[in-house]
Amino acid sequence: MFAARYVPGKKELSLVDIPKPTPGPLDVILKIRAAGICHSDLHVLHGEVPYKETFTMGHEACGEVVEKGSEVTENYSAGDLYAVHGPNPCGHCNYCRTGHDNLCNDPSRTFIGLGQDGAYAEYLKVPARNIVKVPKGISPEIAAVATDAVLTPYHAIKTKGGVGLGSKVLAIGLGGLGMNGVQIALALGAEVTAVDLKDANLEMAKSFGVQNVLNSKQISSLQPLSFDVVVDFVGLESTFKDAQNFVKPGGTILLIGLGSAQVPLTTATAITFETKVQASFWGTHVEMQELYELIEQGKIKPQVQTAPMKEVNHWLHELEAGRIKSRMALLP
Ligand SMILES: [Zn+2]
Ligand SMILES: [Zn+2]
Repeated sequence: MFAARYVPGKKELSLVDIPKPTPGPLDVILKIRAAGICHSDLHVLHGEVPYKETFTMGHEACGEVVEKGSEVTENYSAGDLYAVHGPNPCGHCNYCRTGHDNLCNDPSRTFIGLGQDGAYAEYLKVPARNIVKVPKGISPEIAAVATDAVLTPYHAIKTKGGVGLGSKVLAIGLGGLGMNGVQIALALGAEVTAVDLKDANLEMAKSFGVQNVLNSKQISSLQPLSFDVVVDFVGLESTFKDAQNFVKPGGTILLIGLGSAQVPLTTATAITFETKVQASFWGTHVEMQELYELIEQGKIKPQVQTAPMKEVNHWLHELEAGRIKSRMALLP
């Protein structure tokens, strides 16, 4: 089968022909219908995450179950879509058993498509416990990108940020995650202000119902210390500084963006105002089920472009150059 594989030291994926995977007793084989590309792929290709092994990349997967292991009792119907919970938790450690499976600390687990074979291929082997049924009516490409680009902001904003009815939320950055994030905050009943450098993104946010939008250049016109929750989707020194300026005393900064390796915290202000800085990572299996319901109800409309999977290297370059508007899914 076709697969696009990461080879340590290479800056591009190798497009190769490899054997189709066979399931272990507790696995299923998905015929991939769509696979999202993500900045995390670029971090790996740039050598920032030093994987020593060769593996098929792609951690945002949606497909149909075409084969299952001898001990899998669940029945799957042809044509039904399943999405993969990329953190690939073990299911039995303390974190997994207490609903924090995004933080699974089983030393032997690796993420799907990041350290072990992922979705840039015709078929993917995955533990049956780590797939989630996609409601009918949701396309494979939306289901695929939702596993990260919706799940990550959903976990951050709802679970870690406690955003709810009447929360005043400032969203910094309207890329793939940010554009979904503002819709999630709205669905939770928040009053949302969004800032971005691109006016087109601001227009789109407005069309989703965001109450206040403004260009990042005008951010100083906002009232300092006035937001319950500030979501930094960018994670640069400058955006994290803005987050500290606009979060209210006792409020929460949600750090999601990996824009720079470090961000500075102004200790005197953070201490005086008891600012909570909450980092957030991906999301849980249960949250994945919840967010597909929100997508099904039309409360979140993830924006996604599609392209043939064999063009993966081209589209990773486009992603790097900032030429992908929101998110992109590759189709085999
Ligand atoms: Zn990702
Ligand atoms: Zn675990």
